[in-house]
Amino acid sequence: MKAAVFREVGKPLEIEEISISKPGPREVLIRTAAAGVCHSDLHFVEGLYPAQFPIVLGHESAGIVEQVGEDVTYVKPGDHVITCLSVFCGHCEQCLTGHMSLCANPETRRGPEDEPRLAKDSQAINQFANLSSFAEQMLIHEHGLVKIREDMPLDRAALIGCGVTTGVGSVFHTAGVEPGSSVAVVGCGGVGLSCINGAALAGAGQIIAVDMVDSKLQMAKEFGATDVVNGSDGDVVEQVRELTGGGVQYAFEAIGLKVTAEQCFSMIRPGGTATIIGMIPVGVKIELTGSAFLQEKKIQGSMMGSNRFRVDMPRFVDFYLAGKLHLDQMVSKRIGLGDINDAFVDMKSGEVARSVIVFDD
Ligand SMILES: [Zn+2]
Ligand SMILES: [Zn+2]
Repeated sequence: MKAAVFREVGKPLEIEEISISKPGPREVLIRTAAAGVCHSDLHFVEGLYPAQFPIVLGHESAGIVEQVGEDVTYVKPGDHVITCLSVFCGHCEQCLTGHMSLCANPETRRGPEDEPRLAKDSQAINQFANLSSFAEQMLIHEHGLVKIREDMPLDRAALIGCGVTTGVGSVFHTAGVEPGSSVAVVGCGGVGLSCINGAALAGAGQIIAVDMVDSKLQMAKEFGATDVVNGSDGDVVEQVRELTGGGVQYAFEAIGLKVTAEQCFSMIRPGGTATIIGMIPVGVKIELTGSAFLQEKKIQGSMMGSNRFRVDMPRFVDFYLAGKLHLDQMVSKRIGLGDINDAFVDMKSGEVARSVIVFDD
């Protein structure tokens, strides 16, 4: 099968013919239908997060089950599925206390002695996030997928696999936004827009979108933002404070930068919560004003929207089909696997919400 192989930081991904193993016990072979190009993939391409080479990136995907291994009863060939990097074992402390997105049990992967899931000329190719979606097929643990209704278009379903779940989940689960509350979202890419959409679904009273690109702020309004702030028009924190009479109850950082993480903490009102969704590069420290803790200001991280994806994702599909989750506008471009490097260039320009790779049948 064809896959985009990443071999070295600074070099473009190469489309190569690689081999994929047969499904073992509890594994599922999926024909990839669509894969979104997510900002987290770019972090690895740019070397901001370390990768083990060679590797096939991609982790936001949907497809159709082709073959199942022994003991798999949850899906059968022909089922439509969304994949999720939050593969869960189902019996560790994190899983049993409802924090399945934090499960780190290695038993959902193949061991170092086993035949690798991906290889080329007998050399193992690393699987990214237990998925590797930039490939025509994926071989994953059955706990890394969820079955969905078949009237859901798979290119938009793919977005639910990471960006949408990360954004909406951070609002519903990580922060627990209540109806009527005030929210600010800094960064209006795929995750930020999902966050805005999630805040609207949660019934937030005021939703302030912050970005430097006017076209994205325009989109943010379509996703539910009640106010917009362009970061190039002066102090962002002051503008948010002004709009809310003293700060928001919930701020979300959806870029992954020190400066915007600090701004999010500064723009919350006493008792408010800042949630950092963006991937801040390894080694970067953020600075907070210590006295703010006397005002019960809180800051927290969010991993994949603290999801329980087998429950969440089918609900998000229903939301989309009911017209409540705006996925159509989020797909900026539909591209082929061979266009993957251009998609990263587009992403860096900041003009694109999501490029989605669509595979031929
Ligand atoms: Zn992602
Ligand atoms: Zn677990």
